[in-house]
Amino acid sequence: MAERVKVAVRVRPFNEREKKRNAKLVIDMKGNLTYISDPNNKSNKKDFAFDYSYWSHDGFKEEKNGYLSPESAAYADQKKVFDDLGKGVLENAWSGFNCSLFAYGQTGSGKSYSMVGYGNNKGIVPIVCEKLFQEIEGKREKAKDSEYQVVFSMIEIYNEQARDLLNPASFKVKGGLKVRENPTKGLFFVDGLKELPVNSYQSIESKMTEGTKNRTVASTNMNATSSRAHTVIGIKFTQKTPNASGQSMTRVSVINLVDLAGSERANSTGAEGDRLKEGASINQSLSNLGNCINALAENKKNIPFRNSALTKLLKNALGGNSKTVMIAALSPADINYDETLSTLRFADRAKSIKTKAVINESPTDKLIRELKEENERLKKMVEGKGGVPAGVENKEEYENMQRELEANKKEIEDMEKSYQEKLAAIEAAAKEQAKEAAADKKKSEQRKVMPHLWNLNEDPALTGIVCHFTPQGDSKIGNNKGKNPDIILSGMGMLPEHAVISNSKDQKIILKPCAGAKICLNGNEIKDKKELHHNDRVQFGANMLFVFHHPKDYTALAKKKKVPPEPTFEQARDEISQNSGINKILDDKMDQMLQQDLMEIWPMLNEANMMSEELDKQVKFEIALIAPQAVGKKSGRTEIKVKVKDLPTGNEFMWDKNTFTNRKYMMQEMYNNYIDGDADWDKPKNEDPFWEDPNNPYLIGTAHVHMMAVAYNFHTDETFLITDYRGIDQGQLSCKLLITSKNGKVLSDKELDEIAIEDPSRDLVGCCLNFKLEIPCVRGINKKYSQVYCAYQFYIDDKKEQTREVGGTINPDFNFSKAYAFDPATPQLVQYLEQETLVIEVWGRQKSSDGNNSGLSTRELSLKDRKGAAAKATGKGKGGARADDKEDDASSKSNIEAMTYKRRMERAEQKLRKLANIVEDAKSKNAKDIDISKIEEVIMAGYKFKAAANVVKQVLKAKNNNMGTATSQACSLQ
Ligand code: ADP
Ligand code: MG
Repeated sequence: MAERVKVAVRVRPFNEREKKRNAKLVIDMKGNLTYISDPNNKSNKKDFAFDYSYWSHDGFKEEKNGYLSPESAAYADQKKVFDDLGKGVLENAWSGFNCSLFAYGQTGSGKSYSMVGYGNNKGIVPIVCEKLFQEIEGKREKAKDSEYQVVFSMIEIYNEQARDLLNPASFKVKGGLKVRENPTKGLFFVDGLKELPVNSYQSIESKMTEGTKNRTVASTNMNATSSRAHTVIGIKFTQKTPNASGQSMTRVSVINLVDLAGSERANSTGAEGDRLKEGASINQSLSNLGNCINALAENKKNIPFRNSALTKLLKNALGGNSKTVMIAALSPADINYDETLSTLRFADRAKSIKTKAVINESPTDKLIRELKEENERLKKMVEGKGGVPAGVENKEEYENMQRELEANKKEIEDMEKSYQEKLAAIEAAAKEQAKEAAADKKKSEQRKVMPHLWNLNEDPALTGIVCHFTPQGDSKIGNNKGKNPDIILSGMGMLPEHAVISNSKDQKIILKPCAGAKICLNGNEIKDKKELHHNDRVQFGANMLFVFHHPKDYTALAKKKKVPPEPTFEQARDEISQNSGINKILDDKMDQMLQQDLMEIWPMLNEANMMSEELDKQVKFEIALIAPQAVGKKSGRTEIKVKVKDLPTGNEFMWDKNTFTNRKYMMQEMYNNYIDGDADWDKPKNEDPFWEDPNNPYLIGTAHVHMMAVAYNFHTDETFLITDYRGIDQGQLSCKLLITSKNGKVLSDKELDEIAIEDPSRDLVGCCLNFKLEIPCVRGINKKYSQVYCAYQFYIDDKKEQTREVGGTINPDFNFSKAYAFDPATPQLVQYLEQETLVIEVWGRQKSSDGNNSGLSTRELSLKDRKGAAAKATGKGKGGARADDKEDDASSKSNIEAMTYKRRMERAEQKLRKLANIVEDAKSKNAKDIDISKIEEVIMAGYKFKAAANVVKQVLKAKNNNMGTATSQACSLQ
């Protein structure tokens, strides 16, 4: 019977950062309903209904053992979530249903917390495993003629490749392991996957730790995969029990537990316009999961399961033979509003998916018979005619069949084995596992007494997993190319001989860097030996972060009851950033978010530069802070961008944060291939993450044009400075704003006087306004640009206007002209003209070159570039800081203000003179009265326009006439 996918949402507490930042709560829950409110628009509140809405944000207390237990009835603890969701999984397993549990949500939202948990806050997966074995033990004692078997596996899907986390060798297989389509039986259909029989909860736990450790090593050593990988744990539970008539029945349940990649990877927010975004920012598996869920929710016929590794693997879970549960993890904080809303929408669609789970049970001999029949069929096809047989379309399919045949054989063997034989196998496995468990236990005991380094990872689930002991004597640290190092760390920037840690008899620990090795101790780079203390943070190379645990120090601190909290990844990373060049950029006045962003980007920037040097990519990355004013915004956040400098040509490109992050992941992959000794690690330009097309337009700078003169019917004809984002002068732009007649003729000064405006909001609103904007030319552009053009966006236009592109000169003439007509001018338009500035962007295409002709390495070029920059900074360059930019801006504004004011004064003087003339005239004629109409004429002279409009208005009031014709009549005066 078809059944809906069950969907639960869960909201976590604020984390330390969010608390520090005084984050606002945007999620609320009542019963099954979850509400989300837009932090920028309180009235925009949406509600969603799910099977379960778990409030884990507040209302809890931490027990002595670390368990978070409810203080208020509203709080959902780990037990509640297990009772609602985990118990069902367990029941289904016993009944012989396949089941699947997905955790979806952005990185840091609590997926791993719900699925696996931390410390004593165990998640669904360990509790399910624990209970499963408890129940098996109970049954084994009662029903001796029954058999129970549990097989465990753990894989990671990264970049469409499957990796067996229990077999690190699979990380080295180029392209990873193959995920095959249409899994109808078995655990996963991943070729060569290790499926381990397990016989106790402890053994599952140790396998999980092993898998996580492999993942951690892969993530810090090689790829930063943590938030980009999907982790899939598979448990296959087989029961062989006699039925009422004594016939042996086999019941199989496959349980998939899926911790998905961070959902922020599903879309390409921010990386727009990057030619490599497809390859990098979009996690194909994740976005295809979304596509499949959409298609399923809409009841479509064709579901694109085949388009990605993950959906191939989870086809059953998504619409086939499985009972499926989805947990969507939600961040409570305002800054994650968009991502959280999209998670809620995703979860909402998942609700309408239906699956059809059936009990997988058959008489054992029937199963064996069927397997054998299928085996025969496969054998015939494979052996067919030698080589690829008829009817088999391609080689790959043929190989798949061969593999299937092998898997089948194994399964038949397995099924035919007697209970006794199996028992023997299980017992052998148990012994092996007992040994492993003992070793694990020993290791964890050792951690208490022996000094060691433990790892810090961006992903809390991977923190503290790797441990390197430093026993008495010397421990040599080096990469895998070193001569038998005691501790192998093969990350970026690691040397074959990197450091030595000496542990003397009295447990004094000394860390000594080898020549040329990069090591940071508590945020400071060290060159000489230093003593290590408890909780010291040590970074080896570019990114291998560890904390030192010193049992002797620790015990002393414990005696004094002064055990300090363990350092976190964020703290360790931030102290390194703060002590590096970043403090030149950081500024107390910066908002918290920008500071955080900077500290996040900084280490990545250093890694990217290191990779560029090692791979000799001839580019250099720098941080660029773009104030909103520099791009013509009145307010807003200062944005971080990364400036990419092509060292041989001096060409520059600007990447936004997301583009840079994505590119960096790709660089790292390239770097790994290089380190692995892969001959084809390098890529053609258009796939190279370091390369940018010089032909892509680059924003040279902006000119800010004040338009207030237009509002007073004066012409503007001025030259404006073009400044770049740092406020440095990049040339000049001339711009004209000319008042015209309706048919586009530029009005003479006399004509302008006739339609003079004294108060735009009184005199211009409601009347028509015609002018044209001209950009004749720019002057003094850097000669490195091969083509230059200008672009701007006027008022409420949604399209940008653009001049033609001109090349081959530093003084390009555009002769651009664009006419504007407003009929009538609205109060908004008048306000815009009076108060806003028009930002004219000057864009350039850079010249390409045929690579590096200097013969210098990236490192040398980079050094030269740094020297050049330093010389410029001390020299009398025309550049200035951003503050100067504001001054330039302010002065060009006051120029125009003054000019406008002066002309207005001239007009007023003129009137006064005319009035004086009338009075003089009357006096000379000895007249007693002055003709009012004459005075009126003078006063009105400035604004015939407005006078006419008033007449029209009166007429309108009286006759309720048609406004359109009336206005155009009035305006025709112009
Ligand atoms: P994800 O796997 O989605 O990236 P995690 O599960 O690692 O996120 O959670 C990020 C951090 O938030 C972890 O430190 C975790 O302990 C904490 N956290 C997540 N959910 C909860 C919760 N329900 N209660 C308490 N802490 C939580
Ligand atoms: Mg996680």
